[in-house]
Amino acid sequence: MGKPTGFMEYTRVLPEDRSPTKRIEDWQEFHKHMPEADLRSQGARCMDCGVPFCHTGELIEGMAAGCPIHNLIPEWNDLVYHGHWREAIDRLHKTNNFPEFTGRVCPAPCEGSCVLGINDPPVTIKNIEVSIIDRAFSEGWVTPLIPAQRTGKKIAVIGSGPAGLSCAAQLNQAGHDVTVYERADRAGGLLMYGIPNMKLDKAVVQRRVDLLAAEGVKFITSTHIGVDLPAEKLVKDNDAVVLCCGATKPRDLPIPGRDLKGIHFAMSFLHANTKSLLDSKHGDGNYIDAAGKDVVVIGGGDTGTDCVGTSMRHHCKSLVQFEIMPKPPGERAENNPWPQWPKVYLLDYGQAEAAAKFGDDPRQYCIMTKKFVGDDDGYVKELHTVLIEWVKGDDGRFAPKEIPGSEKVYPAQLVLLAMGFLGPEETIVKSLGLETDQRSNFKAEYGQYATSVEGVFAAGDCRRGQSLVVWAINEGREAARECDRYLMGVSSLP
Ligand SMILES: Cc1cc2nc3c(=O)[nH]c(=O)nc-3n(C[C@H](O)[C@H](O)[C@H](O)COP(=O)(O)OP(=O)(O)OC[C@H]3O[C@@H](n4cnc5c(N)ncnc54)[C@H](O)[C@@H]3O)c2cc1C
Ligand code: SF4
Repeated sequence: MGKPTGFMEYTRVLPEDRSPTKRIEDWQEFHKHMPEADLRSQGARCMDCGVPFCHTGELIEGMAAGCPIHNLIPEWNDLVYHGHWREAIDRLHKTNNFPEFTGRVCPAPCEGSCVLGINDPPVTIKNIEVSIIDRAFSEGWVTPLIPAQRTGKKIAVIGSGPAGLSCAAQLNQAGHDVTVYERADRAGGLLMYGIPNMKLDKAVVQRRVDLLAAEGVKFITSTHIGVDLPAEKLVKDNDAVVLCCGATKPRDLPIPGRDLKGIHFAMSFLHANTKSLLDSKHGDGNYIDAAGKDVVVIGGGDTGTDCVGTSMRHHCKSLVQFEIMPKPPGERAENNPWPQWPKVYLLDYGQAEAAAKFGDDPRQYCIMTKKFVGDDDGYVKELHTVLIEWVKGDDGRFAPKEIPGSEKVYPAQLVLLAMGFLGPEETIVKSLGLETDQRSNFKAEYGQYATSVEGVFAAGDCRRGQSLVVWAINEGREAARECDRYLMGVSSLP
């Protein structure tokens, strides 16, 4: 339980990040590690609250409260406090295949529902998680676990993001022969080509992919199912198929001037940047360069933040980020009580970097783009915007209303559209005749994952819509269990 009086003796401390003005000069991770003594006193703050909401993973008002993979947080906090790191990683791996990913990129709904957080800053759960796994790797405790027996059953997993990887890891441990198909040239999904290197080093992703390969999972990359290989063939040649294709269809902004050059979807920008970085340290020039440009990022979520951080490293001339929603409050609103996910204002890493260089948080709230205007060569040169307010209609729903006189023109030679995703692409749906839900995701019940086609399962963003790495891991693990049960009649997978 940590130290009985720890929460009264120690305050919440996080390791300092690298300085924003220095870190935009490279692509290395911006988080630093914490000395062991400090990690142990942070673990000591976990206070044996009796009912640890931090590992419930309940959905409240559509948002996760607590850890969706039910990490055994109080147990590993106690082990860290006592310096039992080896036991801590064993506990952590029981529920999480990839703590090195979640410990770096998870928004930590666990901390939002930590009981200590009711009247004190919560326990530093995420930082302790990443410290446990990074230590385990550096001590050589994480080695390939090769299953003792094979069942002879063949399973194809389509997509190698966190859902596909966790599903493959679990099915392989159950003794099945698992092949992961990925259309990109490297495995990892958005862990590899979405989230940029400064947030999640690609060597960390590749290390885990290599470990899974050493455990027996086969990876076939640069193979687009439905294009290079028919999905029907995979269904015919395997005992089961798990679709983990992600929600890759981007939301567009069909306003005048959309077809001008210099307007790109965020993922085109982020994918090309990381690929060029990994292939040639940007020497091949195969990326969309923000250097010297006025950049406007449309969309205020994680994807938008990554576009901001990437543009800062290219040395853009100026940067603005548009968010259509109002600025969140500094503290929880009355209708957003603990243990709900706190919807409060945060300065994420990209905005902190823009603020350090340009003097202010780059986000503009309640702003709508009306049209793009281009130059004589067909390149975007400005955005015309208007401020909006959210007004409740007769049907009780809020809708945007333009504020007259608030029109403004922003210069821009690069516009990045980061307004979310509209579910998986249709190729596989059409070829397999899959049913989809109202939001065009693959239709399969949460907890069961079986699609409308016999022997075909779906997990992660392609089933639940765009979400988080931790939910993708949760769904990949559970889909593996259901697939194993389908093949063997029973399953001992969690
Ligand atoms: C830019 C960005 C930043 C994000 N940052 C965070 C963050 O900081 N924290 C967080 O928790 N979440 C973040 N997310 C969300 C998170 O990355 C996703 O929720 C998660 O990766 C979903 O996992 P997945 O396995 O379902 O799909 P994905 O990671 O999208 O992987 C799907 C894979 O399937 C492949 N694929 C698709 N169709 C085919 C096909 N027909 N044949 C072969 N391969 C195919 C794709 O190429 C892709 O590699 C971010 C998302 C984006 C876009
Ligand atoms: S995976 Fe996310 S929610 Fe779960 S313990 Fe780690 S940081 Fe918290």
